[in-house]
Amino acid sequence: MSGTEFLAQVARDHPHQRRLMLSGRFQSEEVARAMDRGAVHRFMMKPWDDAILKAEVRESFRQLQADLAVDETLEQLGSGLRTQRTESAAHRYRHLTRHSVEQNRLLTRELHKAVRAGRLSLQYQPQVDLCSGEVSGFEGLLRWNSSIGPIGPDRFTALAERSGSITELTGWVVGEVCYRASRWSSARPQIRLSLNVSPLDLRGDSLLQCLQSALAEHRLCAGFIQVEVTESSALDVDGHELDVLNALAKLGVGLAIDDFGAGATSMAYLAQLPFSTVKIDRSLVLQLDTARGRKVMQKLIELCTDLEMHTTVEGVESLAHLDLIKGFGASTVQGYIYSKPLPVDGVEQWLASGGRGVPS
Ligand code: C2E
Ligand code: CA
Ligand code: CA
Repeated sequence: MSGTEFLAQVARDHPHQRRLMLSGRFQSEEVARAMDRGAVHRFMMKPWDDAILKAEVRESFRQLQADLAVDETLEQLGSGLRTQRTESAAHRYRHLTRHSVEQNRLLTRELHKAVRAGRLSLQYQPQVDLCSGEVSGFEGLLRWNSSIGPIGPDRFTALAERSGSITELTGWVVGEVCYRASRWSSARPQIRLSLNVSPLDLRGDSLLQCLQSALAEHRLCAGFIQVEVTESSALDVDGHELDVLNALAKLGVGLAIDDFGAGATSMAYLAQLPFSTVKIDRSLVLQLDTARGRKVMQKLIELCTDLEMHTTVEGVESLAHLDLIKGFGASTVQGYIYSKPLPVDGVEQWLASGGRGVPS
């Protein structure tokens, strides 16, 4: 049995394990086939670099956790559908957890249907400029009211990433956000709308094309849109992703690095990539009650300011934290202290009433 045959057998016996292959020989076709079949998740050549190997193992654990959350969601979908007596659908979903090809096909169809049936929507959370105290933008956050009730975006975007339907999903978000921005920015030109993309969206050109056509369709200036990319190990700073980021920056949309300070933060992103905004993660806000935590926040904001980057601090809930962040010189705050994400109606009512202060 060759190494790849062995790993294919392991994949059949233990489908939930992650398999890294370390080899001195590179047989591209055999390895590519094994990767296509899901027998091998990562391939590395000998001699290996300890740091890279450790990072791959760490990433595998992270991915495994995400996979487990996905499976749990699928189970919930399955049992939810069962209780609704849609036996055939329930059967389909039970099947899903086991057969990833079938899973991908069905989930893609389910999300596709959700898009067309209007079961997806965006809520918008205000971002408040700390100098003026005025709303400077909103972040669009995806909601899926599935047939078994709401499913959180963290979970279902992971499903979409796995099933390959993230491109379609992001395409829908881009169209929706550009449409809203074209309506809202005419009443309040200082308002910019942010949208979230997956690192996987940067691997192809459809995000760029989609943005270009949505901006043209809605006659919207690119500066009214900001694209948020979560920093993660899936972001390959040397590859095609960098070209896409540069093309987006050239197009004129704002680029924000999301969740900075959580997980695999890399200072290299600040140095190398064309981001204009750093979104500081809520996990750093939660450290503000300690002297060291305050120092980290202060120095991070100072560093970003020196680099002429905007800082948006996320997840601020208390006045005490807001005061500290203001004192450190952050540009913008987004958090429950001002408002939770609002449905479109809520934002429109606020705009119609003159848009003073923060919508609630
Ligand atoms: P994110 O981009 O970091 O979005 C901020 C999340 O923090 C939102 O959760 C928001 O509701 C929550 N949040 C904001 N302020 C506070 C606060 O003061 N306290 C607390 N506890 N939470 C706060 P949400 O809407 O559940 O979104 C979760 C994640 O799902 C997002 O994190 C983003 O990574 C992902 N997501 C949402 N919409 C999209 C989308 O359209 N596309 C992609 N690819 N991912 C999305
Ligand atoms: Ca975000
Ligand atoms: Ca974030």
